Amino acid sequence: MLDIRELSKRFGHGNGTVTALHEVSFSIAEGEFFTLLGPSGCGKTTLLRLIAGFSSPSSGSLVLDGEDIAPMPPNRRPVNTVFQNYALFPHMTVGQNVAFALDALGRPRSEIDPAVDAMLTLVQLSHLKHRKSVELSGGQQQRVALARALVAKPRILLLDEPLSALDMKLRKEMQVELKRLQRETGLTFIFVTHDQEEALTMSDRIAVMSGGRVQQIATPGELYKNPANRFVAGFIGESNFLSGRAANGLVNVGTAQVAMPGAADGPVTLMVRPEHVALGANLPHALNLTGTVTQVVFLGTDSHVHLALPDGTALVARVQKSLNGGRSFAEGEAISVALPVEALRIIADGEERP
Ligand code: ATP
Repeated sequence: MLDIRELSKRFGHGNGTVTALHEVSFSIAEGEFFTLLGPSGCGKTTLLRLIAGFSSPSSGSLVLDGEDIAPMPPNRRPVNTVFQNYALFPHMTVGQNVAFALDALGRPRSEIDPAVDAMLTLVQLSHLKHRKSVELSGGQQQRVALARALVAKPRILLLDEPLSALDMKLRKEMQVELKRLQRETGLTFIFVTHDQEEALTMSDRIAVMSGGRVQQIATPGELYKNPANRFVAGFIGESNFLSGRAANGLVNVGTAQVAMPGAADGPVTLMVRPEHVALGANLPHALNLTGTVTQVVFLGTDSHVHLALPDGTALVARVQKSLNGGRSFAEGEAISVALPVEALRIIADGEERP
């Protein structure tokens, strides 16, 4: 539905030039919940603004339903945006805010009234239709902003960190709510966030960005299981990294060795998630190491056991009490550490760069 082709954006001139996006290319399918995820400054807002038409690309194209929309002004694009600060009209009622886009298009009341009522039902705010928007809670304002953006039935809804002003509990509720809205309307959402958990919770697919480049595009499960490089592995979930050396299908870490057929000879970076680190175990088809417990952090249902390997490498193991029969770990304790081969990933050491 939307094809982004070699899109670049530079700001400034001469020596002061900042390249906010470097030839970014990908496609979004109709009805997808697609997320742009990355740290501050990675270019996600720049990309969203290019899609909305608030700024124009330095090069590349944006093709929506087969048509290049790059030359189109924002109000002609079948795209709407929900901003972080909601940008509601404070002295209008909820109903007037939601009706605004259709009023501006000069649609008849007989069309506007039922459309507004349907949107208010969708966001569960029918009972507040006549309330002024300044008299609403943050979560309610967010729902009005969504209803207002959806009423004109855009082809794509762009959402720029729309939940970041809400407290944690409300934010979690709105994540579920947004996902429901997207499913029920069948619309295409492009959502911007720097919060990996939020992205994993809601998205069909995620584009992980860093330094103005897309590092990987995949489903949440695939990003977690098979990160393309060290940046993605470090940004999505928690990761342990080990340095090793591959030769003839064997990977050596310190004095331990494991068969990993297909590993290219030479230095390698291995990644393993904390929940796949087995403590007090020596397993077949695993890297069997020894370490020293440096710290135990209680997290409620789980604990994190921090370890140091003989060469100083730090590792974290996530330990579920229920699976370990209440075994506890003492700081300073020497312990065997098994990393099963099926949980080890050889990853590119770094990220996509110019
Ligand atoms: P955040 O999460 O902090 O909003 P972001 O990922 O959305 O970050 P962008 O706002 O897209 O990042 O910015 C990408 C880069 O482009 C940054 O280095 C930023 O400083 C630069 N940039 C953005 N807008 C402009 C501008 N109008 N003029 C100059 N540089 C800009």
